Amino acid sequence: MAADKKDIIVVGAGPAGLVAAINLNREGFNVILRERHDRIGGEPGFHPSVHGTPVDIPGLWDYIGIDCGEAFRLLGDNSKTYVNGKMIGSLDTLMGTRDDNAPKLKIYNTERGHRPTSLDSFLFRIAEKEGVNIEFNNPFKEDDFKKAPNGTIIATGLSQGVYKWLGIDWSVLGGYWAYSEIESDEVSAAAYMGGFSNEYGYSASMNRMWYVLLFARKEVSAENLETFKKVLEECEGRTFDKWKRYNAHAPKEPRLFYKDFILAGTMGGFLEPAFSFGITGALLSGKISAMAVTEPEKAEKEFKRFTGGIPAHMARKREPGYVPGYELGDIWFDIK
Ligand SMILES: Cc1cc2nc3c(=O)[nH]c(=O)nc-3n(C[C@H](O)[C@H](O)[C@H](O)COP(=O)(O)OP(=O)(O)OC[C@H]3O[C@@H](n4cnc5c(N)ncnc54)[C@H](O)[C@@H]3O)c2cc1C
Repeated sequence: MAADKKDIIVVGAGPAGLVAAINLNREGFNVILRERHDRIGGEPGFHPSVHGTPVDIPGLWDYIGIDCGEAFRLLGDNSKTYVNGKMIGSLDTLMGTRDDNAPKLKIYNTERGHRPTSLDSFLFRIAEKEGVNIEFNNPFKEDDFKKAPNGTIIATGLSQGVYKWLGIDWSVLGGYWAYSEIESDEVSAAAYMGGFSNEYGYSASMNRMWYVLLFARKEVSAENLETFKKVLEECEGRTFDKWKRYNAHAPKEPRLFYKDFILAGTMGGFLEPAFSFGITGALLSGKISAMAVTEPEKAEKEFKRFTGGIPAHMARKREPGYVPGYELGDIWFDIK
């Protein structure tokens, strides 16, 4: 390693941390990517999973400098939106109320987790090949945050500890998920809205995996889970024996710089507010956090360009009587 290479620490090897690490390594930094688990794939408490997300292709790949196409599959016509058990159209219906000038984004599925077919594994292979130093089983602890050099990138996602240690205000998300391996290689997704959640549930398949999630701001009650299971069975004819409970935290406001740190991905509040699509946000913000190391003013501008509308949407969600709908607006991280 060249002696003049400047060290930079990136904490968390999810999509945001990996994109930041790959970009900084390409710029000549000696990147140390620290991951608390002993392998790639994010939190085992949430994954393996299939995520659906609207993506501007190739705009997003050009922006982040990495063509992730191999890890994404187009949903095509195989998507549905249900409200109270009644099908109202495809998933594109969710984006149907955007103004006419907004780009018509297509929805893609991507796999998360440790399997070789996941987005995490795809980005990991690039990072490893290009020489990022990835330290597994090496969590950043409370004390590490106190000693961390200026400009350390924090991309630790949804887990609570880091929010507490850094004093960042968080909102709680909770829910249940289930998955099964399936014979078919179909790519599909469905969103479910109804009285069982103040957010929504979804099902999605790809890479021979079928995944279902029900989540809400705050807890999902056992009764609401039972209602969702019935809706799923009626709409898709599928049931699961085993549902896993999860609990997650996300910041209340988007923020790129905090104390001496740079925040990325979920930690930076880069979650599309209407439907919590976070994959596009994590990839974009990985790039922006890398930019923040060398060009902080430009990075701040870019961060605001993408996230400026988020607080107003979040405030709307917190209003009493808010019910999830599909007329939520137009924050879809337009790349232009
Ligand atoms: C169950 C579930 C379903 C979702 N569905 C969708 C969807 O359908 N579409 C969509 O677009 N988005 C979805 N999201 C949101 C999306 O997953 C996130 O926006 C995205 O993962 C954010 O990426 P990230 O890199 O910021 O964080 P993460 O992917 O959470 O990665 C954080 C990494 O940091 C590591 N880490 C945590 N703490 C430490 C520490 N102290 N030291 C070292 N490492 C640490 C973790 O182990 C993990 O590897 C979903 C989220 C969940 C939980």
